[in-house]
Amino acid sequence: MIYLDYSATTPVNLEVLTSFEKVAKDYIGNPNSLHKLGSDSYELMNRAIEQMASLLNVKSNELIFTSGATEANNLAIKGICYKYQNRGKHIITTKLEHSSVSEVMHYLSNRGFEISYVNLLDNGLVDIEHLKSLIRDDTILVSICHVNSEVGIVQPINEIGKALKKYSKLFFHVDGTQAVGKIPVDLTNIDLYSFSSHKIYGLKGVGCLFKQASIDLEPLLHGGKSQSIYRAGTPSLALIVSFSKALRLSLENLDEKYEHIKKLNDLIRNELSKYEHIKINSNEHCLPHILNISYVGINSETFMHALEQHGIYVSSQTACSKLDGPSKTIMALYNDKKRAISSIRISLSHLTTEEEINLFLKCFDVEYEALSAVLGE
Ligand code: PMP
Repeated sequence: MIYLDYSATTPVNLEVLTSFEKVAKDYIGNPNSLHKLGSDSYELMNRAIEQMASLLNVKSNELIFTSGATEANNLAIKGICYKYQNRGKHIITTKLEHSSVSEVMHYLSNRGFEISYVNLLDNGLVDIEHLKSLIRDDTILVSICHVNSEVGIVQPINEIGKALKKYSKLFFHVDGTQAVGKIPVDLTNIDLYSFSSHKIYGLKGVGCLFKQASIDLEPLLHGGKSQSIYRAGTPSLALIVSFSKALRLSLENLDEKYEHIKKLNDLIRNELSKYEHIKINSNEHCLPHILNISYVGINSETFMHALEQHGIYVSSQTACSKLDGPSKTIMALYNDKKRAISSIRISLSHLTTEEEINLFLKCFDVEYEALSAVLGE
């Protein structure tokens, strides 16, 4: 098997799994129980959260644990909109968002909120001048993904955050799910930032929302005392501890891992650009972890399943958007439907080897030739 779908989810790091297992076995108390078992769990939870906060250079009361980035994005966007709707009902976002942001925008637009989409420059980066021109008196939120999940475009969130600082009535939310553990993240100019454990070799079922301490939110879940007043429910201690470990490990040797992945990306890019019907959708502003291509004329799923016969796993668009038709990201970037219905995402890890890529390229060639007969028909 050659797994090239690391942006959909990553295999769990065994050290992380061991820490999950150990905590789940040894710490049976509810962190909110007042007896010793409870306080032992509470202390461990706080230590894990403090470690995570120090890795991100934020305060521990600024981290809210959720079930994943989908919930973190929902909490950030709906939480701000419900809390601050008396200030205004205008939101600005991009056409490059993951469905856990774009679907929330759709939901809110049916409930009296107005959504504006910022223009993208030809290179796919947000047009900051246009963004500033969209800001109105009733704008309460700007939400922009740090790294797009389909093609990997990295937005200059720091520059955007700085530009937004002077608009004191609005908040800046960033979906950082595809960025954390891949590139350094600086949260100084960001109000809210979402990310997820299963994208960084942690377990599925836990995510996090960073929220600057001074900002208030309307919770989505109401109930008893929890890890945060913004999210009720018994804290999942073992998931939180293992998430903290996953984050620490993912940030180790970041540069080295990046360089390894960049080398593999260059290798694939060089080889695939020789094929007549292949268009490379990821440009120089994209993370090397994601390489998106289109075999123009061949439907994404057809090519994906052709590779699957060789035990090679890639994505058609993203795992979360499989029923959505042409890729919205590719449409936003290239406005080309043929390209948008044939896009494939190859996503790489520091665990990916050159041998795997060479084998992938051989199988790619076989399937490219086989399917080119279909193009000729
Ligand atoms: N945002 C982005 C950019 C993502 O790639 C994903 C996962 N595909 C999510 C949000 C949702 O994350 P989760 O699976 O943790 O809910």
